[in-house]
Amino acid sequence: MNIFLTYDYELFFGESTGSVEKCIIQPTKRLLELSKKHSIAMTFFVDVGYIIKLSEYAHSHHELKEDLSKIEGQLQEIISTGNDIQLHIHPHWEKSFYADGKWNCVTDNAYKLDDFSDAEIVDIVKRYKFFIDELTGSKTTTFRAGGWCIQPFNRLKKVFQELEIKYDSSVFPGGKFESTHYAFDFTNAPHKSSYRFEEDVCVENKDGYFTEFPISSYRYNPLFYWRLYAWGRINPSDHKMLGDGTFLAQPGRKKSVLTNFTWNHVSTDGFYASKLTTCLKDQLSKGSKEMVIIGHPKSMTNFSFKKLDSFLNENAQKHVFTTFNSLK
Ligand SMILES: [Zn+2]
Repeated sequence: MNIFLTYDYELFFGESTGSVEKCIIQPTKRLLELSKKHSIAMTFFVDVGYIIKLSEYAHSHHELKEDLSKIEGQLQEIISTGNDIQLHIHPHWEKSFYADGKWNCVTDNAYKLDDFSDAEIVDIVKRYKFFIDELTGSKTTTFRAGGWCIQPFNRLKKVFQELEIKYDSSVFPGGKFESTHYAFDFTNAPHKSSYRFEEDVCVENKDGYFTEFPISSYRYNPLFYWRLYAWGRINPSDHKMLGDGTFLAQPGRKKSVLTNFTWNHVSTDGFYASKLTTCLKDQLSKGSKEMVIIGHPKSMTNFSFKKLDSFLNENAQKHVFTTFNSLK
C-alpha cells in the first residue's frame, strides 16, 4: 500500500485565525520530528493565498514580518528534509485584510473558487502556483481545494491543464456539505483509491488528463462523535486542538454527525486519529493500492500525536509512505 500522509498548512478561517506559532509552526515542527523519527515523507498542502497576503503586509507590519520569516524558514525545512509541498487554495484571502493587530477573514461570496469570475479564477490559480513554485524552487503538480470546494471542476480545468496541475486530492467519496460558504457533493464519486477524470471530479474517465487521489473516507458511526465531544470535555489537555483559532461555521453539521452515519476523512486530526488502524484495515480489505490521510497541524492534539506515532511505529516499515512529487 502507498500511503500519502497529507497536511493542510494553514490558519483558521473563522472569527479568529489563531496565531502562526500555535496553528502552524509548533505542530508542524512536531510532525517533521515524526517524519524524521520514522523515516517517512509527508505532503504539505500550503495555503498560498495566506502567504501572499502576509508578504504584502509584512512591509508595513513588524509582527507580520516575523510571521513571514518563520513560515519561509519552515517551508525550506520541509523541502530540505525530503518532504513535499503542494498547492492549496483558499481564495478568500483575496478579500481578507489585516487590521487592529488581527486578520479579518472575508469569506462571504469568496470562500471557494466558484465564487469568483472566470478571469479571476485564472488569475488566482496562476499567481498562487507561480508564487509557491518560486518560493520553494520546486514544481507543484497537485491541488487540494480549500474546504474541499473543487466543484464545478470544469471552471478550473483549462487553467489547470495549462499549468500542468495533473493531480488532485480534494474529493472524499461519500462526503457532502452545503452552506453559505461550503459546497461539495462527493456522494457519486467512485469509491476507488485513484482514478482518471476530465470534466467532473466525480466521474471516472479513463482517458482523462487528470488523476484524482481521493482523501480516503470512512463511514463514521454517530457514537464516534459522541465520544469525540465527550473526551474533549473530560480530558481537554489530551484532546484540545493545539491551534488557537476558530473554525468557519458549518451550520447543522454537528447535529448531523451525532444522529446519522456519515462519510468523513481518514484523518490524523484530534480524535479521528483513534481510527487510523481501523481505516487502514478497511482500505486493505477493499484492495486499495493507495490511501490518502488528511490532517491539519492546527487540529492536532496531544492525543492525536500519540496515536500517529504508534500508527507509524506499526506501519512505517510495512507500507510505503509516499508523496505527490514522486509521481511522474
Ligand atoms: Zn484548507
